[in-house]
Amino acid sequence: MKAALAGPGGELLYQARLATGRDRGSEAVIEAILDFAAELRDEGAGRFGEPAVAAGVVVPGIVDEERGIAAYSANLDWRDVPLRALLSERLGGVPVALGHDVRAGGLAEGRIGAGRGADRFLFVPLGTGIAGAIGINGRVEAGAHGFAGEIGHIVVRPGGVPCPCGQRGCLERLASASAVSQAWAEACGDPEADAADCAKAVESGDPRAAAVWQDAVDALADGLVTALTLLDPRVLIIGGGLAEAGETLFTPLREAVGRRVTFQKLPDIVPAALGDTAGCLGAGLLAWDLLDAGATAPRAATTGPTTPPEVTI
Ligand SMILES: [Zn+2]
Repeated sequence: MKAALAGPGGELLYQARLATGRDRGSEAVIEAILDFAAELRDEGAGRFGEPAVAAGVVVPGIVDEERGIAAYSANLDWRDVPLRALLSERLGGVPVALGHDVRAGGLAEGRIGAGRGADRFLFVPLGTGIAGAIGINGRVEAGAHGFAGEIGHIVVRPGGVPCPCGQRGCLERLASASAVSQAWAEACGDPEADAADCAKAVESGDPRAAAVWQDAVDALADGLVTALTLLDPRVLIIGGGLAEAGETLFTPLREAVGRRVTFQKLPDIVPAALGDTAGCLGAGLLAWDLLDAGATAPRAATTGPTTPPEVTI
């Protein structure tokens, strides 16, 4: 879990990390989140003279943002956890926003990161899996059921490798950092080799690495062209572990996307700017948005430099 106290412009005033401890079970994880949030609230009082005025919490899985419920997470083994109400109670009634980790990360990249100022963007982190956040005029589209943006499960190779989601040939089975790690480990015969090693081998001219890398880039371009045909984003922000390869990824990716489009307008394809603080910052923005909407706190409280909301992931 990553947490921070954040100011109104998204500035990080204090950061903390804590092991999720999911081996102790889902109830213990929920308790740990509540304790961590309360600790952070007190940290605000100690450092800034008053406790945080709101909280934003973002979690993985399926999130019902309107009802404040963490509906499902395979990783954390929970279903229908009323996390917003639990947090609000533990934090003495301050406004609490509950969000989705990738959508919140996208919100931060779109508002204060790589997509700053873009009215429409698509944020795609390439990590263990592949997810997406669809940014429209300062907010991120969740869809009717909280599933919008799941670009990792667009089928790009019909009949291809099975995916835990039940389909075959999903994008994330071909172009996530995990998928590239696996493909490169098999190709080079070193089970410890990962996607970063593959990128280095590409840079040093290894033809086996170049083939593995190009397969991933082609799959990614196929998925992205589907997404941009549907969404027409102005900026396409690529993040996650695979994007750390820099131009080794972005140069062939821009080429591969450019080759595929016909009538579609090419968006700017740029690396994410906020790294692994995007989720934390997005949670903070959700909290500040609550205050801006005039939820319960006075408007004036949101502009003071010493009244940070707390942010927990
Ligand atoms: Zn899938």
